[in-house]
Order: sequence, then structure tokens, then C-alpha cells
Amino acid sequence: MSERYQPALLLEDIQHNLAAIHARMQAACARAGRSAQEVRLLPVTKTVEVDRLRTAYAAGVRQMGENKVQEAHGKWQAMGDLTDLQWCVIGHLQTNKAKVVAEFASEFHALDSLRVAEALDKRLQVLGRSLKVMVQVNTSGEESKFGLEPAQAVAFVKQLPAFSSLQVCGLMTLAINTSEESRVRACFRVLRALRDQVQQETTYAGALRELSMGMSGDFEWAIEEGATTVRVGQAIFGARALPDSHYWPAQ
Ligand SMILES: *Cc1c(COP(=O)(O)O)cnc(C)c1O
Repeated sequence: MSERYQPALLLEDIQHNLAAIHARMQAACARAGRSAQEVRLLPVTKTVEVDRLRTAYAAGVRQMGENKVQEAHGKWQAMGDLTDLQWCVIGHLQTNKAKVVAEFASEFHALDSLRVAEALDKRLQVLGRSLKVMVQVNTSGEESKFGLEPAQAVAFVKQLPAFSSLQVCGLMTLAINTSEESRVRACFRVLRALRDQVQQETTYAGALRELSMGMSGDFEWAIEEGATTVRVGQAIFGARALPDSHYWPAQ
């Protein structure tokens, strides 16, 4: 699959890839009868060096998604001059790293424990910041993936209003790692149904509307199943050197 993602080094490569992805997103929205404004592209920048991130910024990128806190924090510091650039932490977080996320991130897509919610909230209160968060759900049942089991999600979300610095805005998932369309779509459908249930059964109601789902290999299916944010890395920046399992350890 990786051979499809050519390295994008120059401004025009990145511009070309962004335009192609936006066109595919629009087509997927049209197929699903959705407005293109409903779906946001979050460029995922893990392993991409700062020089190329500055090029992406020049191409118009204003949000970057990173799954490892340390890498994201270092890049935030290195690009501190770009004051309108926002950082979204999209990978599993251990409690002891929560205070770093609270310091610089605009969004956190992988909330899956009350201890992390509490640690984030505490630090955010001290800093006078707030953070958009999405709750990660393991919709594939794969043991390698983080996130709550679908059956735990509603009860979990019901506890989150206690953490007033967290703007709980949606759910996030990684679909099963297969090219079988029906099995990938099934993961996205589980997340969407859960989002609808959470809206009905918690005080967040319509404020919790985001579905962060879909990556380079499956973002069109995700959009057809209701995604509001797609997290795309390799289709913008080129293939990563190592398989994804390398980038998804606990941190
Ligand atoms: C790396 C990553 C992505 C993007 O994957 P690509 O294959 O590069 O599009 C999306 N979400 C998470 C959580 C990731 O770690």
C-alpha cells in the first residue's frame, strides 16, 4: 500500500496532494449527500521533519496532528513563531504526559481514561486554558488498539462534565487494519451509532458531534459513514519508513 504514497518534499508536491485529497473529500461528501464544509482535513505530521512542516504551513496548513506527545511538543517549540498553527494530539496518552498536552495542544483525540481526563483538567485549570477532546473508542476489537470498548463509552462520557476545562466534542476511532471495505465501514458505523447514542443520553447533546475517523487508506469510506474530521498523513507527506505498529506504542 505504501508505494502509493510518493515522498512529498517540495511546496508544489504538498499543494498537489492537499488539493487531490480535498477533491476526493468533496466527491465523498457529494456521494453521501453531505456538504463539504462538514468535513475537516487534519494533516498528520508524525515523522515529518520541521522543514517540511514549514512548507506545509506555506501551503496553507494551520492544524497538525501528532500521535506522540514528545514529538509534537518539540515541533510546537521549533515552530513557535507560527502563532496561528494549532497542534492536535491524536495518540494514546499516559497520565504523566497529560500536563505537557495541557500546555500546548488545541485538541486531544484519544481520551480513554478518567485519570487522564483528571490530569488534563487539573493542569488546564492552572494554566487557564481549555482543550477540545474526543473520546477514543476501539471499534475493531483489535488488541493492539487503544480506546474504550463501545459498551463502556456512554457511561464514560457521562463522567466528563466534572472536568470543566475539557470541551468534549466528539468520538475518535482507528478502523480495523484490513483492505476489506465492509469490515472497515463497520468500525465507522459503530462510532457513528455511539455518537448518536451519546448525544441522546448525555448532557452534551448536540455539542458532541465530531467523528474523528478515516486515514490515508480509508478516509472516503469514513466520510460516507459520517466522519467530520479525517486524519491524513501519508497521502499528504509520503509513506513513512516504518510500519504503523512502530508509531503506536503506549507513550
Ligand atoms: C498516523 C496516524 C494517522 C494517519 O495515518 P496515515 O496512514 O498517515 O494517513 C491517523 N490517526 C492516527 C491516530 C495516527 O497515528
